Amino acid sequence: MSTTQNKDYYATLGVKKTATAEEIRKAFRKQARRYHPDVNPGDKRAEEKFKEISEANDILSDEKKRKVYDQLGFYSDQIDPAQAEAYARQQSSAGHPPVDFGGFDFSGFGGGAGHQAGAGAGPGSGAWGSFKDIFSGIFTGAQQTNRPRGPQPGTDLEYQATVDFWTAIRGGQARMQIHRQEQCPTCHGMAHTGGPMPCAECNGSGQVTQMGGRMKFNIPCPRCNGTGRVSNQCVTCRGEGTVARTETVEFRIKAGTRDGQRIRLQAKGNAGANGGAAGDLFVIVRTGPHPVFTRTGDDIHITVPVTVPEASLGAKVDVPTIDGRAQLKIPPGTQSGQKLRMRERGVESASHAGQRGDQIVTVEVVVPHLQDERSREIMRELAKLNNQDPRVALFDKL
Ligand SMILES: [Zn+2]
Ligand SMILES: [Zn+2]
Repeated sequence: MSTTQNKDYYATLGVKKTATAEEIRKAFRKQARRYHPDVNPGDKRAEEKFKEISEANDILSDEKKRKVYDQLGFYSDQIDPAQAEAYARQQSSAGHPPVDFGGFDFSGFGGGAGHQAGAGAGPGSGAWGSFKDIFSGIFTGAQQTNRPRGPQPGTDLEYQATVDFWTAIRGGQARMQIHRQEQCPTCHGMAHTGGPMPCAECNGSGQVTQMGGRMKFNIPCPRCNGTGRVSNQCVTCRGEGTVARTETVEFRIKAGTRDGQRIRLQAKGNAGANGGAAGDLFVIVRTGPHPVFTRTGDDIHITVPVTVPEASLGAKVDVPTIDGRAQLKIPPGTQSGQKLRMRERGVESASHAGQRGDQIVTVEVVVPHLQDERSREIMRELAKLNNQDPRVALFDKL
């Protein structure tokens, strides 16, 4: 049977053996703030340290437990404080036979080399679990630091996907690469493989021996919680139950999908642990640009150049729409920058069946570069016949 080494809880908390309850409490809080797993995510050493100070505080902050610890150099729930005291008295008066510790193992009296207790209790062990109660009053959300043993749902994922202009309007298939936590193929998300194995700490006996002065006491093994068996951590996922994977997901784009629209792909998020359901994948669609059309919601915007005669006399001109060419009537006297609406020439709504957006045409009057004397003469003639000053309104407002 192996023996665990006694721990110096006072040194762990950095207090004197004569420390008051208040001093112990303050020392613990100070250390706990520094080593709490929430402050050191993923830091195994901080987690170990945190467990050590928690254990030290568990014993030293409890008057009865501290008394037993002071007398024996260790603590176990199985030890009766009265017996511990009797034992301590016995130790101080040399030459007397030891008192009766019924139920404890006295074999190997005074012998047995000290055996390092390994890393102590691992996550999820009984000892670790009991610390939770101490911390819940100090840190909000402290529960998260304890790995839950039951089914744990997977988290949702959010990705942005740029879909080309026409696919967003007409609909189609899109695909993208995502990184997600997938259920571990080795342990099928259970985080351990095979049946429970004999605990290496206690060699499957469920008991370890702890030294108390010259005495040996049998206590339940802290690693396996006295059961003598531990589950074999899965090597593939290192006990996480999930592994990171890059995956290509394909999804349907509904005709008329707008920029910023969210598509929910059920159970395509991160896998759950211990049989928990997978999260969802949310794809935020970004619609791609087009060299001629600009889309806002279900409306299509386009800038169309027109000549001076077309703008002043009025005309019917061909303009591009998302369905091809369409005729647009330019009313006489149309100004540059003026917007003309082509009803129901926009995008078919994805959410309201049968509804369509409009196409909004911004007119851009193109002024001709006059190359010949005849044209310039006509223009001067025109100016004489139409001599309104277009800047009058500006000066009226001064
Ligand atoms: Zn695994
Ligand atoms: Zn064990």
